Amino acid sequence: MRRLILGIDIGGTNIKMGLINHAGRVIYRTNLATRSFVQDKTLLIEALVVHSQDILLRNRLHRKDLLGIGIGLPGLIDFKHGLVNCLVNIHGWKNVPLKKIIERKLKISTFIDNDVNLMTLAEWRYGAGRGIKNVVCLTLGTGVGGGLIIENKLYRGEGFTAGELGHIPLNEEGPQCNCGGYGCLERYVGNHPLLEKAKKIFKRHISLEEINQLANKNNSRALEFWREVAVHLGNGLSGIVNLLNPQCIIIGGGIANAHRHLFREISTTIQRRSLKIPAKMVKILKAKLGDDAGMIGAQVLVHEATLS
Ligand SMILES: [Zn+2]
Repeated sequence: MRRLILGIDIGGTNIKMGLINHAGRVIYRTNLATRSFVQDKTLLIEALVVHSQDILLRNRLHRKDLLGIGIGLPGLIDFKHGLVNCLVNIHGWKNVPLKKIIERKLKISTFIDNDVNLMTLAEWRYGAGRGIKNVVCLTLGTGVGGGLIIENKLYRGEGFTAGELGHIPLNEEGPQCNCGGYGCLERYVGNHPLLEKAKKIFKRHISLEEINQLANKNNSRALEFWREVAVHLGNGLSGIVNLLNPQCIIIGGGIANAHRHLFREISTTIQRRSLKIPAKMVKILKAKLGDDAGMIGAQVLVHEATLS
């Protein structure tokens, strides 16, 4: 039965590979360190091929047992043509026809997409957004990313770049962003600006996890720190709520661990700033699938592409 999918989630630190069954469960997994391959894209592609073959062998599977391979990558990905336009933090990838290359080497149907799109598909099909038609996903980390499900379909946009919530301008005169713009949401709630801000407030190097723990103990500076983060997020998301009228906004990634100190204030800000009808409808939810979301999303990607 061709119901298994080989999911590959290429991140800045790890490459996760696994077999996912028809119910979205990861039934076999393995991990590679991304840094071993960042210097050379041929090495990375070869590693994906060799490890894919190895996974099949170890599980006594033939390539015919797979419905397909789904690959999530951190960057601008042309899903339709299977092209990697460019990757964030991994050099040397420009207009690489990854789908075609993998299909030629492994003779297995392959689909590629942006990693946050895969997380969005996973949360919508199997996670916090299960059964919901209109879903916005937001991931918080070094980069701030997003994905959109509109009327039960992933919305990719004309050039496959839709959902870049991190680059929504919050402030016309704000600090310059990596993207070339100014005052983007990411410049306020990405890990780097947050750590800089934390260093000023606490007058030492302090991790976001530690600030979360301090807030759990009712430390007033830590509580105020998260309140301000939540207000920035709420302001950015208010525009999204007005634009899309989603049923839920799912938040995942590193600082989502501080959800106890974030989610209520995000909701309050949205209630205060958005139009009343969409503001009343939207729920703020924590992502459920954690680190597996990329691989599970690969399963949804392949299913959507081959079975629809
Ligand atoms: Zn930006």
